[in-house]
Amino acid sequence: MSHFAPFAGERIALVGLGKAGLPAALRLAGWGAEVTGWDDNPASRAAAEAAGLTVADPAAGLFRWDALLLSPGIPHRLPRPHRAALAAAAAGKPILCDVEYLYRAVRAAGSAARFVGITGTNGKSTTTALLHHMLHCGGLATVAGGNLGPAALSLNILGDAGVYALEMSSYMLERIETMRFNIGVMLNLSPDHLDRHGDMRGYQAAKARIFANQGPADLAVLGMDDAWSRALQGAGAGRWLPISGATPQPGGVWAEAGVLRDAAGPILDLAEAPALPGSHNAQNAAAAAACALELGLDRAAIAAGLRSYPGLPHRQETVGAIRGVTFVNDSKGTNADSTARALATYPRLVWIAGGTAKDGGIESLAPHFPHVAEALLIGRDAPMLAATLAAHGVPHRIAGTLEAALPAAAEAAFAGAAPVVLLSPACASWDQFTGYDARGDRFRDLVAALALSLGTRT
Ligand code: ADP
Repeated sequence: MSHFAPFAGERIALVGLGKAGLPAALRLAGWGAEVTGWDDNPASRAAAEAAGLTVADPAAGLFRWDALLLSPGIPHRLPRPHRAALAAAAAGKPILCDVEYLYRAVRAAGSAARFVGITGTNGKSTTTALLHHMLHCGGLATVAGGNLGPAALSLNILGDAGVYALEMSSYMLERIETMRFNIGVMLNLSPDHLDRHGDMRGYQAAKARIFANQGPADLAVLGMDDAWSRALQGAGAGRWLPISGATPQPGGVWAEAGVLRDAAGPILDLAEAPALPGSHNAQNAAAAAACALELGLDRAAIAAGLRSYPGLPHRQETVGAIRGVTFVNDSKGTNADSTARALATYPRLVWIAGGTAKDGGIESLAPHFPHVAEALLIGRDAPMLAATLAAHGVPHRIAGTLEAALPAAAEAAFAGAAPVVLLSPACASWDQFTGYDARGDRFRDLVAALALSLGTRT
């Protein structure tokens, strides 16, 4: 068999040689591309050179290239575009993401494997992992990846019957060119990342690219539970299928009073899906079920997948129960909308929140404040959150750090304030942690240490 070299003769500048970037560069080189890598971090450059990659600053213009492959986390637009992105724009070269290259490689291999792209402001990872789990339960060859990891270019090339379930961030969607999703999913749209997209319209436009290259044979699954998402009806050329976590959708898939269904009847009472609590997860379940039906799965396999779905860490994850108090890690609640879902799930709770607040702060959470027995605030924007809580008469203290907040929250809960301690920060974590996952892991460790110190098991 001749060597598979779909990118022979292509010159790719790859910027961002981190955990995903370096393996991606090496794989593209293995597939025949002439790859030049760059990272502003000298240690990453050294590691790339040691691995045999050519390293040069693309912005220096010392070599020519056909496209710029930019890590999803590196901005290409105002207010802080990376200089490589400016160089690409000046040279009229496309800025692409790894998913675009995976797609090209799979099609170049002659595989008819299907691609499902899942986007939205919240619920992307859950829906992607849930779909993957359902398809796996139904016996389909499937891999999941993209934004939630593993990165696209570390996924295998699947055969004709395979399905890629890919979580797509708005940043990645801005960097696809020919990528065509057999099924594109838009879950919901609310303000987030507006710093990168300018305004809500820019953000909506980036997200709408999930449907960009679709044709009439493709399916556009659209969340109907908010106005920004609903407005994208008919945005692409694909067949349109509405989904909802709350209201009937003729021709679609929806949950009503907690029962997932479509026009053919009930699929499952979601009370039987323990890892999918709340109406937000009903929306995710409806989206995943819509995809699975389109991919040929039968209803029994979908129900089985929903029942046995194990959940993802950091999303309303129960990490311990001590003295009758449940400790819930929702560190992935990095904006007000996703934290609203967590607050709505528990009627009475002690809430740990704070970090780097998003535009709009936590004012929009006011309808859920009656659930909050007390709030312990951490991180840079704790004073700002405190001001909002004070204005609404919610008891709160500024704890500063998670290490201080957890024992204080536990003490309040043990004293009878509430049966749940919830970490759902409604803020980014960058001021105190390397990411939401590090924040959630720390919370989990602190709960385990607390249990140990009290001589109980979590
Ligand atoms: P994403 O990958 O889009 O960030 P996740 O599936 O990781 O979404 O969920 C992140 C958080 O958002 C969860 O902790 C949950 O509280 C909330 N969430 C999950 N699904 C939804 C949804 N469909 N709508 C609103 N909030 C959601």
